[in-house]
Amino acid sequence: MQLNKSDKLSNVRYELRGRISDQADALISQGVDVIRLNIGNPGAFGFATTPAVQESLTRHAAACVPYSSTKGLPQARAAIAQYHRNLGLPNVCEEDIYTGNGVSELIQITLQAMLNPGDEVLVPSPDYPLWTAATTLAGGTPVHYICDEAADWCPDIADMRAKITPRTRAIVIINPNNPTGAVYTKDVLLQIAQLAREHKLALLADEIYDRLLFDDAVHVPIASLAPDLFCVTFNGISKSHQVCGYRAGWMVISGEKSHAQDYMAGVNTLASLRLCSNVTGQYAIIAALDDLEGPNVNLRPGGRLYEQRELVHRELNNIPGLSAVKSAGALYMFPKIDTARFNITSDEQFVLDFLREKHVLLSHGAGFNWAAPDHFRLVFLPPVDQLAQVMTRLRDFLASYKQ
Ligand code: PLP
Repeated sequence: MQLNKSDKLSNVRYELRGRISDQADALISQGVDVIRLNIGNPGAFGFATTPAVQESLTRHAAACVPYSSTKGLPQARAAIAQYHRNLGLPNVCEEDIYTGNGVSELIQITLQAMLNPGDEVLVPSPDYPLWTAATTLAGGTPVHYICDEAADWCPDIADMRAKITPRTRAIVIINPNNPTGAVYTKDVLLQIAQLAREHKLALLADEIYDRLLFDDAVHVPIASLAPDLFCVTFNGISKSHQVCGYRAGWMVISGEKSHAQDYMAGVNTLASLRLCSNVTGQYAIIAALDDLEGPNVNLRPGGRLYEQRELVHRELNNIPGLSAVKSAGALYMFPKIDTARFNITSDEQFVLDFLREKHVLLSHGAGFNWAAPDHFRLVFLPPVDQLAQVMTRLRDFLASYKQ
C-alpha cells in the first residue's frame, strides 16, 4: 500500500529548506561552490562563540549528561528568569519557564497546546515562516497582518485591527524581525498590546534577536509593557552566542496567567512528551546569560556584523532596480526588487535563476509569506570580502536579467 504523508501536513509550507535549497545542494554535489545566504547560521560563516560558552560546552559535553526536568535545569531557569526580570518582564517565575531544543520546538509546543481547528493566529507578513507553518500544523489558521516597508517595516496596526475576528486567539510579533531586521518602537508595541487587551488575545513574542542590535536601536520587550496580559516570550542563544547547532532556547510565560492555567497544563503535557531539551545546551544558556557583553563586539563599528550590514545596505541601494531598508537588528535584509524593470512575476524563479547563473543562494520573499513577488531575503553573515563578491554578482546578473 502507498504510504502517504498525513493530511495534517497538506497545507504546511516551509520553503526555507525546500525546492530552491535542494537545487543548491544538487549544485554543491556537482562540485560547484555555492554561497548559501538563505539560513541565519552564524557558525557556518566562521563565527565562534564566546570563550565562556565554549568552556561550558567542553566541560559538559564530556560528562555523562542525564535528562533534566521537563522544564529545564533549575539553574538554567533561574538564569533565564533573572535575565527577563532585569528587562522588566512582569510576574516571571521559574515554574513558568521552559527550555527547548531551540525556540523552534517551543513555538510548536505553544501553538499545538493552544489551537483548535478554525482558531486564528495573527502572524506578520513577512514572517519567520515557522510561525505560519506551526500554526497550520496545529490545526489553526494563520492570518497575516502587513508590516509596512514605508514605516521601516513596523506592523500596520490598522491592518492588524481589521484582521481580528471572534476566532483570533493570539498575536505573534517577531521583534527584532526576521526577515526585515526591523526593531519596533515602544509606541507601536503599546498599540499592539492595546489591541490584545481589547480583544483578550495572548501575545506571542519571538525576541530571539533582542541582543542583536545596531547603532542606537533599543529593544523593548512587549511583555514589559503588558503586565495585565498573557504573554509568552521566546528567546535563545542560537544567534546571540552563535551556537545554533546546540539547539538551546527558552520561553517565559509572564503577565496575567490566572485565566490560562488549563492552557499552561497543556503546554506542560506537550513539553513532558519530549522529556527535556538538550542539557548541554541548557548549561550553555547559563554561561551565555552570564556573558551578555562578549558577543557585542560584532555589533559595533569595526565589528563583523556591523561592517557586513553596512556593506550590504550600501551596495544593495547602489544596484539599479533594488532598494533596501537598513536593518536595525538581527542578521537579515529584505530588499525590494523593481519588478517592472526586470519583468519579474515569480520571485522564486528570480532566486533560482540567480542561483544557477551566479551560484549564490538567496531566499525568495514568498518563502516568508510575503504576497507580492518583489522581495528577497539576504543573510549578511559572510565576511565583507565574500559579501562584496555577492554584490558584484548580483549587480552583473541584474544588468541583463529579464524574466
Ligand atoms: N525565531 C526566529 C525569528 C528565527 O529567525 C529563528 C531562526 O532563524 C528561530 C526562531 C529558531 O531559532 P532556534 O535556533 O532557537 O530554533
